[in-house]
Amino acid sequence: MQENAQEIEETQEPKEENLITFDDLGLSNDVLRAVKAAGFVKPSPIQEQAIPFVIDGRDIVGQAHTGTGKTAAFGLPAINNMKVDGKVEMLVITPTRELASQVSDEIFKYGRNLGAKTVTVYGGSSYKRQLDLIERGASVVVATPGRMLDILKRNMLNNFAPSIVVLDEADEMLDMGFLDDINEIFSFLPKERQTLLFSATMPAPIKTLASRILKEPEFISITKGETTNTDIEQLYYVIDEHERDDAIIRLMDAETT
Ligand code: AMP
Repeated sequence: MQENAQEIEETQEPKEENLITFDDLGLSNDVLRAVKAAGFVKPSPIQEQAIPFVIDGRDIVGQAHTGTGKTAAFGLPAINNMKVDGKVEMLVITPTRELASQVSDEIFKYGRNLGAKTVTVYGGSSYKRQLDLIERGASVVVATPGRMLDILKRNMLNNFAPSIVVLDEADEMLDMGFLDDINEIFSFLPKERQTLLFSATMPAPIKTLASRILKEPEFISITKGETTNTDIEQLYYVIDEHERDDAIIRLMDAETT
């Protein structure tokens, strides 16, 4: 009887498809704990493809929209590879300060177990505070292009040499007229570095930029259907900046009653 039962179990084993878990991607235990704490159960397609390459030190072009899990696709392996030695190891450039804050918060969550600090750098707020936070041992800087270039041109940081540089939503940055700033930012960065470029679309200027700043990149393309969340309804309200907090409170009230 015992033997028969075993035989049945063996023949009914599920097929080896779609069974990749976060444990299979080469991430350290500290990072895997952060993945669990974030509530992620299964890697999204871009994470499955990108994480092993990024851990390996390869450059990447990722054609992916927001909602595909691209922040974790570069954030998790980047944190995984960090020394967390008090120097800036990673620079992420994003088109807007909202995205910069979002990316910074997410990477902070992944690096908490390793003590990796993140700092957000954008225009319209104090240089001093941003620079102090960096000098106090940040591992990750998430910046918008204008302010980052300003800081680099004015030589306001000592020994700024991130070993991994990420351009997030490169096509948005192109549309917003940041291409020249981005090219100039790279003139201040180490030649020996890992570079990752994410963009939803690949217009010619982004392809040219990619060929200039990336070395033998791996190309990863994710279709719109392969998003982490498919049941999100998106709405927007046009309000003044000063109304933002009240509007959020009213929306939360309305949603919970
Ligand atoms: P992104 O495309 O990076 O803007 O991520 C979209 C959302 O998906 C974020 O709220 C992430 O926290 C979430 N997310 C990322 N990876 C996963 C995953 N593997 N499982 C579930 N949610 C995820």
